[in-house]
Amino acid sequence: MKIAKVETAWIAIPCDPPQGMSMGDIRESSDAVVRITTDDGIRGIGEARGAPLPEICKVIADEYAPLLMGEDPRATQFLWDKIRGCRLASMSPPNWAPMRPYQAAQAAVDLALWDIKARAAGQSVCELLGGAPRPLPAYLSKAFYVEGQSLEQMCAEAVEELGRDGYRHLKIRAGRYGKDDAIRRVDAVRRAVGPDMKIGVDFNQAFDCDTALATIKALEPYDLMWAEEPIPRLPKGADAAKGGYDWDERLGEIARQTSVPLSSGENHYTLSDCGSLISKGGIAYMQFDMTKNGGLTELLKVSAACQANGILMAPHHVPHFQIMPAAACPNAFIIECYDNKRQHPAWPYLFDGFPEVKGGFMECPAGPGWGMEINDAFLKKHGVPVKWDFAARRA
Ligand SMILES: [Mg+2]
Repeated sequence: MKIAKVETAWIAIPCDPPQGMSMGDIRESSDAVVRITTDDGIRGIGEARGAPLPEICKVIADEYAPLLMGEDPRATQFLWDKIRGCRLASMSPPNWAPMRPYQAAQAAVDLALWDIKARAAGQSVCELLGGAPRPLPAYLSKAFYVEGQSLEQMCAEAVEELGRDGYRHLKIRAGRYGKDDAIRRVDAVRRAVGPDMKIGVDFNQAFDCDTALATIKALEPYDLMWAEEPIPRLPKGADAAKGGYDWDERLGEIARQTSVPLSSGENHYTLSDCGSLISKGGIAYMQFDMTKNGGLTELLKVSAACQANGILMAPHHVPHFQIMPAAACPNAFIIECYDNKRQHPAWPYLFDGFPEVKGGFMECPAGPGWGMEINDAFLKKHGVPVKWDFAARRA
């Protein structure tokens, strides 16, 4: 079996209205996608994010595709290393920005290769990893900052969406307007959803260390599921190229002084980066995002490192891909899901077979592969093909 074709495209559909976090607004539902086809007609798909989408696609089309053509797609680790050696080996932290398109492109390619490997074995990715497809607990990731929306309206919208799909876990955004605003939001949401709903709070790196600790301490009576990314990777005014404080060490200092569990990982970019978070950060939940960083190949190693250290996996974003490794992972806790109509209008249409949430659990597709196909008609209408063969048919 040999790789015969590599296609890539990106898509960005406006979120109306924009969905705000502490450090900015999400204005588009955006994805870079890849589809890899073998000489015997097996197709695998992958998704990437976390860098400018045209740059991700350019890396895939111009730099990674020539390295992949003719190779056996089932050699996932070999190809991961081959791609890594191409460019990423020469780049290093703390200045992550130039690395991100390469890391994201690698993630998409890796996911597509695993899709092919599973399909060739007649299995889902979950089964290939030794798991059994099963529903997993899901949380509703919502309560963004929306211009013109009152706190009461925000709570009502969240309550409606929670009820629609039977969620028992919710994540809200807080921290954009400081400590008091964060407490007000958590208090309003807790009152609206009642005492039994598990609530996580994502600060999106809003605070300096002292404010973060004071805010999280003040939130201890609210019985939070977790406090997520309270402090920034770089302190205000730091030079990205030179780095700032030890992010993970500072997070660990906060963890030692509060009873609220901490979560992080969506902005940790490699296994070694996650290793630092695991050993120093004091987190209870790891939120690694395999579509930004290294794909499934890297996720499996991060999951194992977390298992060895008593940390549960609460993978970030892209539930339609995260569900399968989570269903095969002994220390998976929960999957991040959304009000797709408002936050990710492209997903359910871009991916045929997009899994549903019922009764607070996300269904794990039975496969084959990831159990999904990219909808060519939707991509053709809304996407930007960098290299995509819309006339191609599955063998
Ligand atoms: Mg987050």
